[in-house]
Amino acid sequence: MRIFDSHVHCGIQDKYPPQAFEDYLLAIRGSPIQGAAMFPPVLEIYERNDPFFTDTTSWRRRRQAANEYLLTLQDRDIEVFPYLFLWNDFAVRQITPWHFGIKWHRHENEPRYNYDDPACTAAIATIREKNLPVVLEEELANTIRFVNETTPGIRVILPHMGMLNGGYRRIVSEGLWEKPDVWADTALALPSEIMHYIEHYGHERLLFGSDFPFGHPSAELAKINRLKVSDDIKADILANNLMRLYEKIRPVL
Ligand SMILES: [Zn+2]
Repeated sequence: MRIFDSHVHCGIQDKYPPQAFEDYLLAIRGSPIQGAAMFPPVLEIYERNDPFFTDTTSWRRRRQAANEYLLTLQDRDIEVFPYLFLWNDFAVRQITPWHFGIKWHRHENEPRYNYDDPACTAAIATIREKNLPVVLEEELANTIRFVNETTPGIRVILPHMGMLNGGYRRIVSEGLWEKPDVWADTALALPSEIMHYIEHYGHERLLFGSDFPFGHPSAELAKINRLKVSDDIKADILANNLMRLYEKIRPVL
């Protein structure tokens, strides 16, 4: 059975906790995981501890190096699906044919994305044209706006079943899960939420993810394997759904 981890942080500049590619390989040693979607660590992209942070040349360089590092991971022991982590410079010119998605991340007390910047609108248009999915972690109001207004026609994945987007239940009451372009990953989510999701929204837009280095890939995989659902559903969550997500970009494997 194929197994792909759809949620992995990977980089060599932010070393706490260690999250280089080799650290991930070590973490999945002996497990059947054959590939992973990877994004740079947040602390390689912007100063998350300063809500008023504005960009600097050195941060721009750090961000570019973080995104470029993932592109060096071709032809390694496992399949790597790199995502470009976009910040307020909306540097979509850095999207390469090897990218499989976009990472968009911000917590409530962190510097804001300039949604009103024309460069943001242009970046969204580029993302749509390239059919790239967006892993979106944002506060609830921005998540709702992003899905309903900003990005129609773009596949949006809410990580950890929405845990840091306002919480699973809030996303339920806002009616976002039933939207055909809203997907979810299971990283660090409660099994009860995953079961509720499958019962109400089906399993076709649900992706296995570990959130390495914050979650442990083997433990997160064991959580999926323990779910009281059929093997076919597990196979879809563990790999087939992700491959279907990528089909619009290009078929893999
Ligand atoms: Zn994460």
